[in-house]
Amino acid sequence: MEKKPFVTKEKVEEIAAKYPTPFHLYDEKGIRENVENLKKAFSWNKGYKEYFAVKATPNPFLINILREYGCGCDCSSKPELMLSRTIGAVGDDIMFSSNDTPIDEFKYCNDLGGIINLDDITHIEAVEKACGKLPKKMSCRYNPGGVFKITNDIMDNPGDAKYGMTTEQIYEAFAIMKEKGVEEFGIHSFLCSNTVTNEYYPMLAKLLFELAADLKAKLGVHITFINLSGGIGIPYKPGQEPNDIFVIGEGVRKAYEEVLVPAGMDDVAIFTELGRYMLGPYGGLVTKAINEKHTHKEYIGVDACAANLMRPAIYGAYHHISVLGKENDECNCKYDVTGSLCENCDKFAVDRMLPKIDMGDYLFIHDAGAHGFSMGYNYNGKLRSSEILLKEDGSFQLIRRAETPKDYFATFDCFDFYDELIKE
Ligand SMILES: *Cc1c(COP(=O)(O)O)cnc(C)c1O
Repeated sequence: MEKKPFVTKEKVEEIAAKYPTPFHLYDEKGIRENVENLKKAFSWNKGYKEYFAVKATPNPFLINILREYGCGCDCSSKPELMLSRTIGAVGDDIMFSSNDTPIDEFKYCNDLGGIINLDDITHIEAVEKACGKLPKKMSCRYNPGGVFKITNDIMDNPGDAKYGMTTEQIYEAFAIMKEKGVEEFGIHSFLCSNTVTNEYYPMLAKLLFELAADLKAKLGVHITFINLSGGIGIPYKPGQEPNDIFVIGEGVRKAYEEVLVPAGMDDVAIFTELGRYMLGPYGGLVTKAINEKHTHKEYIGVDACAANLMRPAIYGAYHHISVLGKENDECNCKYDVTGSLCENCDKFAVDRMLPKIDMGDYLFIHDAGAHGFSMGYNYNGKLRSSEILLKEDGSFQLIRRAETPKDYFATFDCFDFYDELIKE
């Protein structure tokens, strides 16, 4: 697939005149079209619901767009639960898929009426302790171990992952929970990340459906939902074939008809907890070229750094870059595109062929809409950028202001040098 920015140079100039770069820009039109298609692809399932993985892009304005389409919130911490509560996502609109969970967070979730998804069997006791008794509806996270293969390709290595319960443990957990009064059960599993194949969800679904049918047969538990979690990926690289959500939805439906319907389980709701797939392609990091350096290599220094988008630095992840206004120019210059951190890994691109970049050019770093801003940090005293929503009508809205030094120093506010510190 060809990669084109969802914004023009002219529009970015207009935005930058008001809100200086760097900023994360989000495409409302793309977000809406994508979530509409997701819902259509799973419309065969009456109870289908997407719980957006809040950690991917914890911005209430963006999550509220998804809420219009009936999406809930998948939370992993108390602050994420607080954010969900604030936008009215409570009760069955919360899926709490945490791990290594502090006990008081179970109570906080339960007070909001959220669904607790247990990562470990020992947490049955923790929830009992925290909440007085187990909630009526609960879920367990499953990890079959081993490697997850699609045809002959190893997709990921669940046996090495810290998440979820073993097969033996999930049977034991369901038996204990049933005895302690749980009435509605769910199964959750997340085995592969960023899959760019239509086969992952259907294969995972089949595995979980078979487990569900057996749990029901052996323990007589009432399983009301199966949560396929996240993991549907996006094509970060040009030329990569994107997932087809309709093929994926149809693949899950086939497994449902094959396994659940004959087991008398045709009322089971399918849940998903997508993050990357929901927003990844619909956000870009917009940054300006501010320095060029000609030493052993050709460097372009931009005003964003790994603190704004750390995937290239920590995973060596590829993010496509467009030079705005030069989309059709020949890519005949080889650059390292760098940020300003005192870390050599702070490069958005290494040996990347790009059009000739002039100082002041705007670069659009693609696919930063999920696991982008949210992974940001303050190393080197770098401040988090603003987030801006490009609306369907072409107007734009600030949906998070940029940090100031005052934010950076906020946790010193109890010391007497604070006022001096924040003086500019
Ligand atoms: C991170 C995460 C997700 C979302 O993953 P994506 O790769 O963004 O789809 C969903 N569920 C849980 C429990 C997660 O930790």
